Amino acid sequence: MATGKASTEMTRQYRTSSAGETIQAGRDLAGLLSAPMLVVLTGDLGAGKTTLVKGIVEGFQAAKEEDVTSPTFTLVHEYRGTSVSLFHVDLYRVDTERQLLTLGLDDLIDANNILLIEWGEKFERFRTERDAEITIRRVDETARAITVVGRLPS
Ligand code: ADP
Ligand code: MG
Repeated sequence: MATGKASTEMTRQYRTSSAGETIQAGRDLAGLLSAPMLVVLTGDLGAGKTTLVKGIVEGFQAAKEEDVTSPTFTLVHEYRGTSVSLFHVDLYRVDTERQLLTLGLDDLIDANNILLIEWGEKFERFRTERDAEITIRRVDETARAITVVGRLPS
């Protein structure tokens, strides 16, 4: 069904051929994101979701890319920028609504925060509530196709 919200969504595409280029795409993308925002990152394991987040976090000057690591076990990492805080979440190991609730993500949805949620599409609520969705597709060993859909500045 076409909704008013969907019709105002913009698409941005990147094609990268190294992890470094994906980090650079993330820095560029940071310029299109603003708080409050809930962003879902979709793509297979090893596609480059965490690599892209390194660039986004660096773009907000909230951390250096080498200090941004996968929240595989801790599930939520926080990076505080000067104006915006970024919360990087990995729901790969989160399977139930109950587990999801214990992460307290609702408390993080705040005017100054951007949530970047890997595997967010596993949960229906994030398929409907998300402001933007970033899909990363592995083309070959080093090539990636990155598609960003959401309410972005044109
Ligand atoms: P995910 O978070 O989607 O599971 P990661 O970002 O942790 O994926 O891992 C991506 C892996 O793919 C890294 O080992 C990275 O070096 C490698 N890689 C190779 N080419 C690219 C590329 N163009 N973009 C992103 N990562 C790439
Ligand atoms: Mg990851």
